[in-house]
This record gives sequence, structure tokens and C-alpha cells, in this order.
Amino acid sequence: MGKVMIIDLAICNGCYNCQIACKDEHVVNDWAPIARPQPDTGQFWTKVTDMVRGSVPKVQVTYHHSICQHCDEAPCIEACPEQAIYKRPDGIVILDPDKCRGHQLCIPACPYPGVIYFNHDLNIAQKCTFCAHLIDKGWKETRCSDACPTGAFTFGDEEDFKEVIAKAELLKPELPTRPRVYYLNLPKKWIAGEVFDKEADECAEDVTVTATNPATGKKCATRTDGYGDFWLKDLADGSYDIQVEKAGYVTQKLGPVDVTKEDVNLGEIALVKA
Ligand code: SF4
Ligand code: SF4
Ligand code: SF4
Repeated sequence: MGKVMIIDLAICNGCYNCQIACKDEHVVNDWAPIARPQPDTGQFWTKVTDMVRGSVPKVQVTYHHSICQHCDEAPCIEACPEQAIYKRPDGIVILDPDKCRGHQLCIPACPYPGVIYFNHDLNIAQKCTFCAHLIDKGWKETRCSDACPTGAFTFGDEEDFKEVIAKAELLKPELPTRPRVYYLNLPKKWIAGEVFDKEADECAEDVTVTATNPATGKKCATRTDGYGDFWLKDLADGSYDIQVEKAGYVTQKLGPVDVTKEDVNLGEIALVKA
């Protein structure tokens, strides 16, 4: 029965409890042959990074979680000449601290940056163990999932999460690594702004704003609210042409607006009467 982890980014509030619980479990404590002690600084086997997106006043904060994906087809296993990394029957990928000889070849082989750390004092690579030392004692949760107050971090048997997994996403889904960490509500890009009536000098409500990706033909449309605000959400990476229109006004065309690297706040857009 394979173990899986599911991280719901819509309900993560960035409290860092998961990150702290991992340190509480692994710093100083020696869980060999599963793991040697994690150093008290510099390593975060689960790492929360807050991302401030957009610009004032259209700002959103989301959290990224970096953790070993316990891949079923793990390139790190192939890269280790000492056969120090192995997959257990329950799907957990363990980096055996007693077999590791410090070659560090697993680190660049892993396609998920920053999940394997190197411990210079012990001359070994280290990473998340899915708390296998606790699972082997009958624990149902890992320390990080147990510590999460919102239920954003869940851990368990694959069979019990079939429905959730069916609608979950993967990091780097294009890779053949078959990760055991699933994500819900991975942040998608957005374009936001506010529209106002220039002559009346007031917010323009019920204006239709449409983003069109000329490369794919995909469209996303929304309407401004009572404050003239709009958010075009869940956009795929790419460039968009923006059209702002309302009956009785001159249609505004903006763009291209590229959201490949970051979300975009277009700021104020003035509409003038036709
Ligand atoms: S995420 Fe990286 S370290 Fe973890 S199993 Fe996959 S390849 Fe190995
Ligand atoms: S599963 Fe255990 S080892 Fe992995 S990040 Fe969570 S607490 Fe740390
Ligand atoms: S403990 Fe839960 S809510 Fe807090 S940062 Fe971790 S996943 Fe997010």
C-alpha cells in the first residue's frame, strides 16, 4: 500500500508549522538507518516559501511547498553509485545515511530543486523521509502533516485518497518521475486592474474585460465590480491581448500582456464615452 502526501495550497495559511515540526523531529535526533540528525540550521526537508504576487493594490500572497516527491521513477536512485537511495515497498524513497559516501551526484540528478541537502559535517546527503521511522512504529501521520492546523497537509495510503488524487496536480507534470506528492489549487497566473469613467471621474461597473491568447485562441472574460475592479484568474502562462468594453464607451485594447514570469496588475484603465 503506497504512501502519498497531498498539499492543498488554497487552505495553507503559511504558518510554517509543518516546517518547524520537521525540524523538531529530525534536528539532534538520530533515526538511522532512516536518517541521521538534520543540522539545526540550513536544511528544511519541507520548505514553505511565501510568494508576494502582483503590485499594490492588487496583491496576493500564496505559499509554495518544496519537499522530496518520493518519485516512483526517481532519478536520484539511478544517480547514486553506492546504491544508497532506495524505494521501499510502501513507496517511500530513503537516502540511507550509512551507505551515502558524499558524492553529491543525487543533488543535480533530482529535477525538483532544493529538496536534497548536503550535510558537510556528516559528509552525507539528506532529505525528507516521509517520517518512515514513525510510520514503521504505526504512526498514521508524518510530523509535518500532523502539525498542520488547517488540514492543508495530508498524508496516508494512496487507496484512501483516490478521489482527491484524481483532481490533484503534480509539480512538473511533464516529467516521467511519477511523484507521490500531490498538490491541490496550485496557483495560476492572473491579470488584474481597475476601470474608471474618465469624464465622470468614477469607477466603471459592469465593464467586460477579456484576455485572449493569440497563440492558443483561449479566452478568459470577467466583469468589473462596483469599484471598477477586475481579476482575470486561472490563466495559463503566455501572452494575452486585453479588450475592455462597455456599451456607449470606446473599446480599449491593451497588450500584449505576458504572465509567463509573473502576475500582472494593469493599474487604472480609463474609458471615454463613444
Ligand atoms: S524528488 Fe528528487 S530526491 Fe525525491 S525521490 Fe524524486 S528525484 Fe529523488
Ligand atoms: S514527512 Fe517527516 S521528514 Fe518529511 S518533511 Fe515531513 S516531518 Fe520532515
Ligand atoms: S502547517 Fe499547514 S497551513 Fe501551516 S504552512 Fe504548513 S501546510 Fe501551510
